[in-house]
Amino acid sequence: MFTKGAAYNSMIRIFGMFLMVCAAFCVVLTAYAQPMSRKPGPRYFEDRIPYPVLEPAAPKKLRKPVIVIDPGHGGHDPGAIGAKGTQEKKITMSAAKELRDLLTASGRYRVMLTRSSDKYLEHEQRLRIARAGGADLFISIHADSTGNKAARGASVYTLADRAKGRSKRIVKSQNWIMDVDLTEQSDPVGDILVDLAQRSTESQSEQFADILLKNLSSQTRLIGNSHRRAGYYVLLAPDVPAVLLELGFLSNAQDEKLLKSKSHRKKVLASVTKSIDQYFATKEE
Ligand SMILES: [Zn+2]
Repeated sequence: MFTKGAAYNSMIRIFGMFLMVCAAFCVVLTAYAQPMSRKPGPRYFEDRIPYPVLEPAAPKKLRKPVIVIDPGHGGHDPGAIGAKGTQEKKITMSAAKELRDLLTASGRYRVMLTRSSDKYLEHEQRLRIARAGGADLFISIHADSTGNKAARGASVYTLADRAKGRSKRIVKSQNWIMDVDLTEQSDPVGDILVDLAQRSTESQSEQFADILLKNLSSQTRLIGNSHRRAGYYVLLAPDVPAVLLELGFLSNAQDEKLLKSKSHRKKVLASVTKSIDQYFATKEE
């Protein structure tokens, strides 16, 4: 028998269940509403430390690459003396300034010379200038000389493997700051850091030398085996990609004449500029 009282009780029960469902729904909604409105990020920052607002990503490479040009010799050191008496230090200075002007005119680089007057700089000072200036590329300019008067042509030097130990010793003796201060590190850690920097720098120097020789070959004569390796001091910084460019042989009368010619130098230096452009273009890819 379905009585009026029983129907009333059923209604109360159904209403009660409805209220319980509503309450449960509210609890669930409250629990989820908070996380949905929370900023993304670690929970423990919430309500205590404002979540850091990230700046929009800066455009890649706003800084202009720094090119440090090193005119070889200077002051009391004239360098090689040409067949007709030309001093290497004068050729290197003219070429360095002409290259600086070409690079500056492009507007793409910050250019520094290690010396801009006829003064002698120790090799160590030349490297210190490059490192202090944040050089992305270091080019030391020279002109060759040899007893064989027939030898002609330009060449490019990068650091020889055998000189890497010397490079490490200089880093330590000069207390050069790499990623960390090496004097604070045990030797193995310091060596690993220098090794890493050296490996990266070496591959960049080699890459630039390859580009440079390819472009030079279309503008001037190269000697055989034109990519050479040596332990020259100016190539020793483990964190500065560097080449030493020998523009030609002052001991050869024809090369001497060419090196003294502004129009010849302009042609050669235009190919150096083109090489620098191509080298840095590979870094923007
Ligand atoms: Zn020289």
